[in-house]
Amino acid sequence: MNNYAGIIVNNEAKAVDRLFTYKIPEELKNKILLGQMIKVPFGRSNKKIDAFVMELYSEYNEIGKLKEIISINNETPLLSKEHVQLIKVMKDKYLCSYLDCIKVMIPTGITRGNKAKTSALLFLGEPLKNKYLKEPYESIFQIVKNNNGLFNKSALSKKFNISLSSINTMIKNGFILSEDVVVSRYSDREYENYKSVKLNFEQQYVVSDIMESNENMFLIHGVTGSGKTEIYMNLVTKMMKLNKDSIILVPEISLTPQMVERFKGRFGKEIAVFHSKLGDGERYDEWNRVKNGEVKVAIGARSAIFLPFNNLGLIIIDEEHELSYKSDSNPKYDTREIAELKSGLYNCKLILGTATPSVESYYKAKENFYKLLKLSKRVNNYEMPKVSIVDMRNELMKNNKSIFSEELYNDINEKLDKKEQIIIFLNRRGFSTFVSCRKCGYVFKCDSCDISLTYHQKGNYMNCHYCGKQYSVKNSCPKCNSKYVKFFGVGTEKIQSIIEETFPRAKTLRMDFDTTRKKDSHEEIYNKFKNREADILIGTQMIAKGLDFENVTLVGIIAADISLNIPDYRAEERTYQLITQVSGRAGRGNNPGKVVIQTYEPQNQAIIYASQNNYEEFYESEIALRAAMNYPPFGKILLINFSSKNEEILIKNTQKIGYLLKHKLSNSDKIVMLGPTASSLSRIKEYYRWQILIKGKFDNEFENKIKNFIYENLKTMYNDIRVSLDVNPGNMM
Ligand code: ADP
Ligand code: ZN
Ligand code: ZN
Repeated sequence: MNNYAGIIVNNEAKAVDRLFTYKIPEELKNKILLGQMIKVPFGRSNKKIDAFVMELYSEYNEIGKLKEIISINNETPLLSKEHVQLIKVMKDKYLCSYLDCIKVMIPTGITRGNKAKTSALLFLGEPLKNKYLKEPYESIFQIVKNNNGLFNKSALSKKFNISLSSINTMIKNGFILSEDVVVSRYSDREYENYKSVKLNFEQQYVVSDIMESNENMFLIHGVTGSGKTEIYMNLVTKMMKLNKDSIILVPEISLTPQMVERFKGRFGKEIAVFHSKLGDGERYDEWNRVKNGEVKVAIGARSAIFLPFNNLGLIIIDEEHELSYKSDSNPKYDTREIAELKSGLYNCKLILGTATPSVESYYKAKENFYKLLKLSKRVNNYEMPKVSIVDMRNELMKNNKSIFSEELYNDINEKLDKKEQIIIFLNRRGFSTFVSCRKCGYVFKCDSCDISLTYHQKGNYMNCHYCGKQYSVKNSCPKCNSKYVKFFGVGTEKIQSIIEETFPRAKTLRMDFDTTRKKDSHEEIYNKFKNREADILIGTQMIAKGLDFENVTLVGIIAADISLNIPDYRAEERTYQLITQVSGRAGRGNNPGKVVIQTYEPQNQAIIYASQNNYEEFYESEIALRAAMNYPPFGKILLINFSSKNEEILIKNTQKIGYLLKHKLSNSDKIVMLGPTASSLSRIKEYYRWQILIKGKFDNEFENKIKNFIYENLKTMYNDIRVSLDVNPGNMM
């Protein structure tokens, strides 16, 4: 018999981020369950507040008088017992609060009493009799019979042109029943049926290996176009037959219209889609469909890993190497780690799939933590594209000052002649990358972020790519008043205008953050290009992901160096991945593909190995570097970020904490502390930012000690400093 409960109160304050023990009153005994939301009296005033049941005990050593639980909000627990367990692990692992974890698992608004929407729908009642055996009643009766439970009164009246009073008469006499039914706020368009194919030998082998193996965790390393998506769908179908649920994760749902299209086309209403653009009501309804077991498959971005499936059999993480799988707000979880934990808790299969595994995941596969499965050929044996690396320094020597090398220029013309399609990739949006004065060197920067502004020709404005703030364009320099204000560098918007000038016969489309702000705009651009309404698609990394266009035979990478020059230990890995992913868009149909990589660093390992499609060699050289430098997967990185609107206070206090921390860490030679120093992004949205990096071999307990140490010390300082701790952050800036 459970007599006591350990609960978490629904209150953000740091001081109450712990378990409180409450007594279960007699009338609620046997009714209180793990994961339920309940009401308890809290604080000195005994205010009634929501709480979550995290633990149940029969015995408790009562010291002082315990308060009693007041009532239960919903009998069905909001959190499964597995998720309750997961929350406890996450809090420790990601240095966040209990509530942070709970909030990613339930839809927003549920704690504010969000409710399902109901509608009074019409059902068939008693057969007509007596004086009602005539028109219009007989027709109405027939209509309701054919549309049982599909319409409410007004909808039926409108659709079939029936008077409301006749309907009311029939309801009054019991010939029609009007019943409140929960309806979904989510409505989706129809998708074209996506027929299943017979798997080839390689694919079949992978599927049976996964289904028959005793192991649960797999990494599929399959070249682009090797048919991974078909494998995923096949596995989902197998799970459905076993009456088990599946979660499919994609990097960003709006950026992967094709994946959604295929899954929707194959599974129709049986699959729930979790977009970031769903409204709160829609999200709530879809979440409930999952919870109530009405749907057995869901596809979504990282937070869909927390969907409350009861009988989970399969988790698929597509493009597992993508950085968006690491959350950058609390809880700062890594989706792959959560998936591993869930695989253990539910004893379900976990599949990571990619053409370019993250170094960390590949390492795990080599250590047999994941079982490695390889797909080395494209479906139907389509050739991998031919890759050519062009040294842009030579172009300059040939006096070619255009952004296109001679080779790329000629190739574009050739493909335009053949009516084949082209993708041009540049990982930088906007028109120019910075705006400055040629006389004094002044660079226009965002007032609140200290980031140089980007010029956008369409709309003629400058904006900050960190906070989005817009600025009007100035014709003179605010510092020296000269008129020599100039735009430097190129972004996708500029490339598009250059292409339109250079190849006037080509129709172009552009896909980047700026052209895809509206709902569905991403899908629109994608469909236009698929329907061959344009010859050239220009885009940022958005176009690198999973797009499958048969007619694309040329991919041009304008500046492969951009991703090499970011201050991050994963710069090489990112470059390898981007080149491979973008290149993978070429030659997916009958005609062979070609890729032209333009660079100022043709000797770079990441570029060379990517051009040879040689992941194995790339991995070997990269893992050696990681080992030498103690970077993940060997060591860990703990990034501690401090921010404040007051720069002086921030610097003073960060330095003080840095000093104390250095002292505390001084007796360990396996741990290095870097900083305190201003972050690469030294100011964002009015907040100045400083950071401390701790690198080395340490465990979770150590990280929590550091966290507590910092919070303890901050208490004695000004409280307008914010701290954020991130273990192995996705973004080091
Ligand atoms: P990946 O996800 O590895 O990039 P896809 O699953 O998108 O590869 O497959 C590439 C193309 O080959 C798609 O158009 C897909 O429909 C097709 N395809 C996949 N498997 C088969 C198969 N067994 N038979 C015929 N076509 C297939
Ligand atoms: Zn100037
Ligand atoms: Zn800004």
